[in-house]
Amino acid sequence: MNKPKMSTEKGVPSNSRVLMLLSQLERMNGDAMEKNVAMTRQVTAKILHLIQTQEKSGKEVMSKGSSGMEVILASLENTQDVQTILNILYILSELLTVGRGRRAGVFVSKGGTGILFHILITSSKELVPSEELMLQLHSLLAKVGSKDRKFGVKARLSGALNVTVNLIKQNPQNSKLLLPCLQVLRVYSANLVNAISLGKNGAVELMFKIIVPYIKKSTSLLKVALDALGALLKSKTNARRAVDGEYVPILLALYLDWHRNDTRHRHMLIRKGLLVCLRNITNIKLGRKAFIDADGMRILYNSSTECLPVRTLDPLINISSLIMRKCFPKNRLPLPTIKSAFHYQLPHVPAVGPVAQLYSQPPGGRKTHQLCNKLLKKVDDVVDESDDNEEADADTENDTDNEEEEKEQRSLNDDIETDLNKLHPKKSLGRPFEELRVYERFFLELSEDFQGYNIDSSKTSSTTPSSVSLSSWSASTQSTQPIIVPRDQALSPKHVPALSCQADCSPTKGISMQPSLFAPTSTLPASLNYLELDAIHLTKEQDHKENVHIPSADTQTSLSSLNFTGSFSQEQVKEQELSHVLESVSIEEQMPREAREVKQEGPSVNSTRHIQSPLLLGGITTRRVGGGGSNWGSDCGSEGADDEGGEGAVLEVPDTSLLLPLHNPDLYVEMVKGTHSVPQYAEVAYPDYFGHVTPKCREPLLERVYGVQRLKIFQDIERLIHPNDILDKVVYDLDIPSCPVIEGNGESLKFNSQFESGNLRKAVQVRKYEYDLLLNSDINSNHHHQWFYFEVSGMRVGTTYRFNIINSEKSNSQFNYGMQVLMYSVQEAISGRPCWARTGTDICYYKNHFARSSIATGGQKGKSYYTMTFSMNFSHKDDVCYFAYHYPYTYSTLKMHLSKLEALRTSQIYLRQDVLCKSLGGNDCPLLTITAMPDSNSNDHVCQFRNRPLIFLSARVHPGETNASWVMKGTLEFLMGISPLAASLREAYIFKIVPMLNPDGVVNGNHRCSLSGEDLNRQWQNPNPELHPTIYHTKGLLQYLAHIQRAPLVFCDYHGHSRKKNVFMYGCSVKETVWQSDIKATSSDLQEDLGYRALPKILSQIAPAFSMASCSFVVERSKESTARVVVWREIGVQRSYTMESTLCGCDQGKYKGLHMGTRELEEMGAQFCVALLRLKRLTVLHNHQHLLDLESDIIGTHTKVVSSSPTTYVMEEDEPSFLEAIDYSAESNDEDVEPESEHGVEVSENSNHQDHQSDSETNHRD
Ligand SMILES: [Zn+2]
Repeated sequence: MNKPKMSTEKGVPSNSRVLMLLSQLERMNGDAMEKNVAMTRQVTAKILHLIQTQEKSGKEVMSKGSSGMEVILASLENTQDVQTILNILYILSELLTVGRGRRAGVFVSKGGTGILFHILITSSKELVPSEELMLQLHSLLAKVGSKDRKFGVKARLSGALNVTVNLIKQNPQNSKLLLPCLQVLRVYSANLVNAISLGKNGAVELMFKIIVPYIKKSTSLLKVALDALGALLKSKTNARRAVDGEYVPILLALYLDWHRNDTRHRHMLIRKGLLVCLRNITNIKLGRKAFIDADGMRILYNSSTECLPVRTLDPLINISSLIMRKCFPKNRLPLPTIKSAFHYQLPHVPAVGPVAQLYSQPPGGRKTHQLCNKLLKKVDDVVDESDDNEEADADTENDTDNEEEEKEQRSLNDDIETDLNKLHPKKSLGRPFEELRVYERFFLELSEDFQGYNIDSSKTSSTTPSSVSLSSWSASTQSTQPIIVPRDQALSPKHVPALSCQADCSPTKGISMQPSLFAPTSTLPASLNYLELDAIHLTKEQDHKENVHIPSADTQTSLSSLNFTGSFSQEQVKEQELSHVLESVSIEEQMPREAREVKQEGPSVNSTRHIQSPLLLGGITTRRVGGGGSNWGSDCGSEGADDEGGEGAVLEVPDTSLLLPLHNPDLYVEMVKGTHSVPQYAEVAYPDYFGHVTPKCREPLLERVYGVQRLKIFQDIERLIHPNDILDKVVYDLDIPSCPVIEGNGESLKFNSQFESGNLRKAVQVRKYEYDLLLNSDINSNHHHQWFYFEVSGMRVGTTYRFNIINSEKSNSQFNYGMQVLMYSVQEAISGRPCWARTGTDICYYKNHFARSSIATGGQKGKSYYTMTFSMNFSHKDDVCYFAYHYPYTYSTLKMHLSKLEALRTSQIYLRQDVLCKSLGGNDCPLLTITAMPDSNSNDHVCQFRNRPLIFLSARVHPGETNASWVMKGTLEFLMGISPLAASLREAYIFKIVPMLNPDGVVNGNHRCSLSGEDLNRQWQNPNPELHPTIYHTKGLLQYLAHIQRAPLVFCDYHGHSRKKNVFMYGCSVKETVWQSDIKATSSDLQEDLGYRALPKILSQIAPAFSMASCSFVVERSKESTARVVVWREIGVQRSYTMESTLCGCDQGKYKGLHMGTRELEEMGAQFCVALLRLKRLTVLHNHQHLLDLESDIIGTHTKVVSSSPTTYVMEEDEPSFLEAIDYSAESNDEDVEPESEHGVEVSENSNHQDHQSDSETNHRD
């Protein structure tokens, strides 16, 4: 024989008996085997004996390097003799029993499975197949089945499936043979295609025959049969078979039998197996119906309740609860329409997109829907009939061995931009320069020459401008030009000295600007002159039109030249003018005093003020929505006050002027008067009026109580089991004209949210102390429920109230990971603790039984809403409390802060506040310019002043992300501060800041959109001047800067993230995107410096909340129209970022385990500034080219850093993405106990890729 000799490496003695026998067997392989059957039997029997009696023999055969397994398998393949085959099967059985699966792995890798199937098929064709052979074959197959990934496919292709099924059918009483056959069947069935095929051959009915009726014997057999059945029922066809065979009531009865008889809980696995079968059957609609018809809800509810005291039975409770939730009949939300209760008439409706869709249906909304319902047949958009988890019950199942993984991989990469052309920054200057010229007046600092202006006399700068701009915010009439050159000076050709100065100073001073900047500017004197003239023209206009809102008037003129006339109707303009007049009257009374008071005199005199209750706006005519009285009543602080009249309620206003230098209650009310809301709110919420002082104590994240979600779900299920306990009493409803509807019998809480940023739509008392709450949709939209802000009063002390927000939409929430709601108690405020505090217990977030209409899900059917639930024990009688998703920060608050900011101005600070434009809803969009005054008006100093690099910041494009405003507040206060750092920062840069890109959304309590019903952060590529004015003009500013070669050094848009912890950034990098997407790119495509990493890296070093690990620099397709990507691509800003701050807390650094409060958020805003200063320090001593090296120094070397720590591409959030998975794996998964992992992405029960994709769009928060 020329075959390699039986190898005997690894120190196995060559005289080993078993190896010698194997060599002998090897030599006989082939013809000799047939000729000498007796000899083969003898040799195999000897080997078997050795292996049975000496442990070392088995080790020798299976030792590494030994070819023993090959020899054995070759013999098995070659022999026809049943006895020899049996001998070899026994040998294998002995060998594979030990070795913890490694030996089985060797067996599989040598092709053993295929040989077994071959023998199985061959011998099944015998007239009377040997039972012993069948038994041994199945035993072996059962042993190796789980080790062979292709086991199912091999079985099907070889035809083994039916052999096994028939064997079971023919030997129903032969439990010795039955067990291995069922074990093999269980492995077969794990493959979906096999399951279908087996089902056709009667395997489902066969399994039911084995498990029914209840007999407490041969339980191991029963267990395996249940497992096999459970696997078979994963196929929808088989599930349907089970329903048609009326097995659902049988399974339920059987489960009850086991539940009652298994009193010592020894047969948990059988009980669980039965539930798994029910769970899989109820994946289909018919199955759920059968379950309900068989009274499944009550049976599982009762049995689970009985199991509750025994902790070890948790797996049963959890599966039961999963089944019940799935089968819970889908309810409709108790709303007439899911469209926002308020409607805003748009100047025009976009041709495509979500708004167009919404408008193509009959308009809903409070004012019109009743009329429309009469005119048109009511269109039910709350739920569509076909929505009940419609699924194709027919199997579309293919051989899916690897498909799942591939799919996952694909969907993960789907969103990454793979078009290299789109990845490379393409500066497109967009509008022609003639149009962009209108933005020149927002950049006075770039042409300021300070001649005729005594910089050292600080009076000039601090008095005049501040008084102007203080009033400007509420009156909105003057375009503020605080540092004003006398008008005749403006006529002088001030650019000429400036240009010569640039030429002089740039080389010596080493101002860090791209050298290219100087050349074009100096060669374009003509166009600059032209601009100059235009500026004069504008100034004149301003002179003539006093008290008229100049920016908007101007916008109009510029727009009209573009044929965008009619953006404001005459009536609107008149109304605005009128309200301005009214405002200015009241403001004149207040403002001057305010302006003096701040800073100089310190806190105002201890002030007890008489406030009308409810806190309504006086002085201007206000139209109350719905006409009902406020429900605030006079509960607070004044016994026996007249409820209706509201006069005489006395509130002690907490004196917060020391702690909150930017806050003043009276000023706030003044600001509210100038704020335009669609519902025309006339009330002011107390927290906004009093202000919020950061509590002293730290606020740790809430530790999740074991079983809390299960408990809540059971309470929900009880609604179905005990319907008579349910009150269903509407206590607040925006959709009816007399809202609020409460009659004060003391049995119900009172709700209200008709104030700025409020958005409660409806409150239903379901039980005595439990309320279902519904949030209003964003205006002109039918979804985006997440943000909430509402008022509660009329509570009892010592009672636990449960609140459920039942129309949440996100598939997961930080409320599952320690986040608490925020509450503000007016009683506490009056007692000197005016603060929002994290509170609430039993908090969780889970999928509920309210169906979501496909109209609101972008066409996806069968979706549900989610419930965010929390419980609350109020500590004060007669309190008025407010609940919010996050620290509210209203538009009026911003105006107040900006107004107060003026008082922080010193003679060294250059602060200018302009109104960039009007929002769609008629609110001003503020624009701030902050830098340092030049040291003198000498050429050098003025030149340094003008040539400072620009930093462009914006925030609050998403109204629900109030944390972005708090971070912005920190930035603004730092920039206006007196610290040396702040001074250096002002000297280093010119800051351009749009602190609130979406005032309308903020005012009207939207979560994500503007009045146009669109996400403004998806409009940057092509903003519409009428529908998206704030974006259109902010982009205009940036385009103007790009045109004059002054594109900002850093652009950053502040956001909030609802599903991740910490603070982090998204940036844009071609390289990192290419790496993530596997697209082919030449090395020249990848020329990119690492400048974009410097700022986040610095932040991670100085800001404890900031996490570099969460940053991502990958460009996604779904983000191509966000500020970050557009500013990067079109404006050419390499350092273009979204900064995301968590709405929850931190899981690293100094704040690990704590909520982020306003103090931490404001601190973050200040640290962002400090980081910019560090960035600057790197640039001061080095020219631009060196800067890059330096930046890379702090982050390591080019190649090393990038290759060692490329940021991960995070499509989904850190937290598990799907709730069903959370509650069952987190609280007690019987199989693999996984801790509530914050990093592992868990997949849902019906792992649904569509879900994944659709969510990713909106979940990724920028
Ligand atoms: Zn956002």
